[in-house]
Amino acid sequence: MAKYTGPSCKLCRREMTQLMLKGQRCLTDKCAVKKKKYPPGPPRKRRGKLSEYGVQLREKQKIRRSYGLLEKQFRLIFEEANRMKGVTGDNMLSLLERRLDNVVYRIGFASSRMQARQLIQHGHVLVNGARVDIPSFRIREANVVEIAERYKANVMVEDSIKLSKALSSAPEWVEIDFESKKAKILRLPARQDVTAPFNEQLVVELYSK
Ligand code: SF4
Repeated sequence: MAKYTGPSCKLCRREMTQLMLKGQRCLTDKCAVKKKKYPPGPPRKRRGKLSEYGVQLREKQKIRRSYGLLEKQFRLIFEEANRMKGVTGDNMLSLLERRLDNVVYRIGFASSRMQARQLIQHGHVLVNGARVDIPSFRIREANVVEIAERYKANVMVEDSIKLSKALSSAPEWVEIDFESKKAKILRLPARQDVTAPFNEQLVVELYSK
């Protein structure tokens, strides 16, 4: 599957929001959003107010880029969410949270979704004891996600766990054993489990035009 390979910090600056795409660096003063408080590109004297469409588009880009998806992948998830029972925006965020790359990141075994994706693609992540190398794999209730035995002592994984513990960022829908680097999915993530300041309703409005 194709992926974005450009500079991550530029995406944050475009949205003027910390999308936390680079793990530890995002927490330091090196963060590009903190250093450069203006969008990328040539400086413009006046920036007009965004249109309604512009606001919706920016919110969609913010959510899509946070999860590291291309437009087509994101749109497919939205359409699936739209076909499901319940509130489309809630369904969409739940489906995004259930992606294996997001789960590995949220449970603290990687310090960013990008790093999680790399771990998965290199075969270092197991689900219910079997290797899964597909970042979009969707976790289910009672699944057990763990780091493969040969990679458990990896410095990058250890550092990510330290960071997660320091931030107390582990979600409530998983039971994590940092010692054995295993996590059990207690329930599927819901809207209230997404702490990022997303306004998913704007995405629904954008795609409903
Ligand atoms: Fe975004 Fe992190 Fe780069 Fe800051 S350091 S601009 S939050 S990716």
